[in-house]
Amino acid sequence: MPDYDVIVAGAGIAGSLAAASAAKGGAKVLMLDRNDYTKVGKKTNWGWVCGDAVAKSHIDFITNEIDLRFGDPELDLKVDGVYAFSPNLEHRFIFEGEGYSLDRPKLAKKLVDYATKNGTEYEQHFEVEGPIIEDNKVVGVFGRDHKKEQVKLRAKVVIDALGIASMIRRKLPTNDYIEQTVSTDDIESTGRYIYRFEAKADDLRYYDPKNALIHLNQVLAPGGYGWVFPKRNKRMNVGVGVEKKSLEIRNAKLSKNDTLHSLIDQYVDWNPVIASKEMDPSDENGKGYWSVTVRRQFDSLVYPGYMGAGDSMAMPNPISAGGIGPAMVAGVLAGKAAAEAIRDNDTGIESLWRYNLSYNKSYGNKTAGLEIFRVYLQSLNNDLIDYGFGHFITEEEAVEISYGRIPKLTIASTFNKILSGISNITAFRNLLYTVDKMKKLNALYARYPAKVGEFKQWKQLVNAEMAEVKEKFKPAPV
Ligand SMILES: Cc1cc2nc3c(=O)[nH]c(=O)nc-3n(C[C@H](O)[C@H](O)[C@H](O)COP(=O)(O)OP(=O)(O)OC[C@H]3O[C@@H](n4cnc5c(N)ncnc54)[C@H](O)[C@@H]3O)c2cc1C
Repeated sequence: MPDYDVIVAGAGIAGSLAAASAAKGGAKVLMLDRNDYTKVGKKTNWGWVCGDAVAKSHIDFITNEIDLRFGDPELDLKVDGVYAFSPNLEHRFIFEGEGYSLDRPKLAKKLVDYATKNGTEYEQHFEVEGPIIEDNKVVGVFGRDHKKEQVKLRAKVVIDALGIASMIRRKLPTNDYIEQTVSTDDIESTGRYIYRFEAKADDLRYYDPKNALIHLNQVLAPGGYGWVFPKRNKRMNVGVGVEKKSLEIRNAKLSKNDTLHSLIDQYVDWNPVIASKEMDPSDENGKGYWSVTVRRQFDSLVYPGYMGAGDSMAMPNPISAGGIGPAMVAGVLAGKAAAEAIRDNDTGIESLWRYNLSYNKSYGNKTAGLEIFRVYLQSLNNDLIDYGFGHFITEEEAVEISYGRIPKLTIASTFNKILSGISNITAFRNLLYTVDKMKKLNALYARYPAKVGEFKQWKQLVNAEMAEVKEKFKPAPV
């Protein structure tokens, strides 16, 4: 006999929202996390490691779906948008509209309070060690409780919201639906500081109190980018994400030995606006490192008795690495689908499949295209990115791409673009190829299998497109 209808493993953004949404749907829910209730949502010993930026549309999604409203103090600062700068800082494109810089510890507390208020039981200091599997179905989790005693807990459905290193996903049996691991090529190593700072000068290319800034620069942040996100009270969240292979190639070519840690410090030193700085001591959350995936979410998010949401399912946006929004969307939808499956008295894969469909419709259908664009971007050095910003695409086209839509880069419109230099022309041709592949993948995801039986064949088509692109484009940061 199961102890609960739903066990949610992990009380981060995805977990707390999944628990709240399932409990609101009438399910008996237990949420497990290693963190103390006062430090809920803390990812690692480093803290709530994040850039803290989220689009307003994602916050609005939660309010519309489960009637949870946000304000002070969790929405730390409102921003008008996100600007991406070319390496030479001569061009900038805005993408994503209004958004917020969050106070992550306060947001996490608000979400867990909402989950418990709606009936979720929260067990703190619980270390989840893996799934209990019977007859190829997940029927619970095992782990160690606050006394470090081995415990088995059973449920009709388990929602895995343990983040990127999930102990449940990694211990599932090999199966056609959920991948146990993520390729290191699809992972960004990231780190950031939260500083209180004094400004030396006004230069909106380096710090903008009203906008989040992203610096594409293959020397400063190989295979990723650097960011400066404003926060309230003269504070900023400043960090860097790098891809392992790009960093190795960049180091070898420049005869350097840089690491993520040294690159973050160089990025801070590179910023002429920062006159003096000190680490923000609040919540011991001023400095931290962690990893983010930059691929499409797993093609299926369900397995018999099992659903995944957030970083555990590789949900962060492949271009921006923004994972808060997708974790919010997925948490709400996973909880809702779990409660429906409980009401239907069926937590088999066919029944849970409804969550694959709702997530794909709400967010997931664009991410394979974005993954391809990310792979293309990592194949360009700084000169090509500078040239591309100036010649390849208009601001509107860049915005379209960032939303996963296909820009009108038709051959006809390209006649007006006068390109010079063989590598620039090759890079532009590669962009046309990339956009064509994005179109194909968006079309495939528009036909996301409605039934479990159609999944295997559909996935083969996705894999074939992905493999072709990844074979064609290799990281070439310098
Ligand atoms: C440096 C950095 C910057 C980022 N910047 C941004 C940004 O600006 N905007 C954005 O949208 N996204 C950003 N992201 C990504 C974003 O932080 C994540 O996508 C988001 O936190 C995912 O939430 P989650 O609930 O899925 O997982 P997590 O936040 O990782 O939560 C997982 C929870 O599970 C718990 N847990 C894990 N394992 C166990 C276990 N074995 N037993 C018990 N409990 C366990 C953890 O303690 C945690 O509470 C950034 C990430 C990093 C690393």
